[in-house]
Amino acid sequence: MSEELKPCPFCGTSDSFVERADFSSAYVFCNHCSAKGPTECQESDEEEIPGADAAARAWNKRASQQPSKENSKLSPSDFGLGLSPQERDVAIAEGRWKP
Ligand SMILES: [Zn+2]
Repeated sequence: MSEELKPCPFCGTSDSFVERADFSSAYVFCNHCSAKGPTECQESDEEEIPGADAAARAWNKRASQQPSKENSKLSPSDFGLGLSPQERDVAIAEGRWKP
């Protein structure tokens, strides 16, 4: 596998690994918070786990977009941005966002 996995975008740990989804695809799974990356398809026969490279890339893309909770000083406006009112209610209910 050529891609090194970045820390989990949700919990900030490096406790994530590539999990095989089926015979031709894989996704990245975080052992710590159970976050799951996008399922990606196999790109070449060289891959040890089919889809691992693409899954790792998708995970890393997400990881660099999202601030990790661990070292985040999220302000409500940062977190609430782009969420629908329903999503915000869920975030508040789950304690992920305090208005
Ligand atoms: Zn995690």
